[in-house]
Amino acid sequence: MNQDRCQWPPLACSVRDCFAPLVRRERLFACERGHSYDVAKSGYVNLLQPNDRRSLAAGDSAEHVAARVRLHARGVDLAVLDALVELVRPHAARGVVEVGCGPGFALERVERDLGCSALGLDLSAHAIDVAAKRAPRAAWIVANADRRLPLLDASVGTVISITGPKHATEFRRVLADGGRLVLGVPASDDQAELRAAVLGRADATERVERVLASVADVFELVERRTVRVRPTFDAAGLADLLLATYRGGRTREAERARELVELDVTLAVELCVLAPRQASAGSQLARSRSS
Ligand SMILES: [Zn+2]
Repeated sequence: MNQDRCQWPPLACSVRDCFAPLVRRERLFACERGHSYDVAKSGYVNLLQPNDRRSLAAGDSAEHVAARVRLHARGVDLAVLDALVELVRPHAARGVVEVGCGPGFALERVERDLGCSALGLDLSAHAIDVAAKRAPRAAWIVANADRRLPLLDASVGTVISITGPKHATEFRRVLADGGRLVLGVPASDDQAELRAAVLGRADATERVERVLASVADVFELVERRTVRVRPTFDAAGLADLLLATYRGGRTREAERARELVELDVTLAVELCVLAPRQASAGSQLARSRSS
C-alpha cells in the first residue's frame, strides 16, 4: 500500500455527542476521549457505531458491488467520470469527499487526475473494501451518511454525492468557505429502454428539479450539465444493470430481463454544481418559514 500518498482529511469521532477530531496512530484512529477505530487490512476505517450496524443490510451487498465493478469495466461510466473531473477541478485543492461512493470509481478518477486529497464514504463495507484495494492513495471510510458526517466543520473543498444521500445542511457544515457541492441525479430518460422492457413502461420522472428544490435553502445552482450515452448491452450487461439498480432481485423483472439478448440503453445523469448561499443555513430557513 502506498501510504505516503494517502492524505486523510480531518475526521471526526462518530460516537454520539463526541465528534472530537480523530488522530491517526499507526493502525488506528483515536479521539482525545479514547474512542478508537482500527484501520482494516485493505486500508479503510470503519466508523459505524453499533446502532448503525443494524442498518448494514441497507448497504450494498457483495453481489451488487460486483455488478457495479463489471459495469465499470465495460466503460459505460467513462463519460460521466470525465465530466465530473472537469467540474470538480477548480475546487479540488482543498480536498474532495464523496458521500455514498460505492466501490469508489468516481473518487478514484478524481484522485488520479487531480492529485488531490480524496475521501470516499459509504455504508457498505463490501463496497469500501473494493475501493480501498483498487485505489489505496485515496482514503476510505465505512460510515452512515444518513447521520452526522464524521468530518470536521469547514474542512473540505468539494463534496460529491452522485448515488449518495443529499443532506444539504450536513454538506454545508463540512464545506470550507468557497467550497462546492457536486450532485448527480439520474435524468428523466435514464435507463428508459430497460424500464420499458422489464416493467412494460418507462415513466419519465423529473428528479433533478425536486433534488435542487430540496437543497435550495442552503445551496444555489452554479452549473448544470447533462451527460448522456447509449451503449449496447448484452444479456450479462443487462443483468448487471438491473442488479446495480436493485431491480435484479425482483423476480418478475429478472425473468423478463432474461429474455433480452441485446438492448441499447440510455444512461443519463444530471451533474449539478452548487455553491453555499451567503447567509447562514439557519437564517435562510427562518426567512423561508416566515414568508
Ligand atoms: Zn470520541
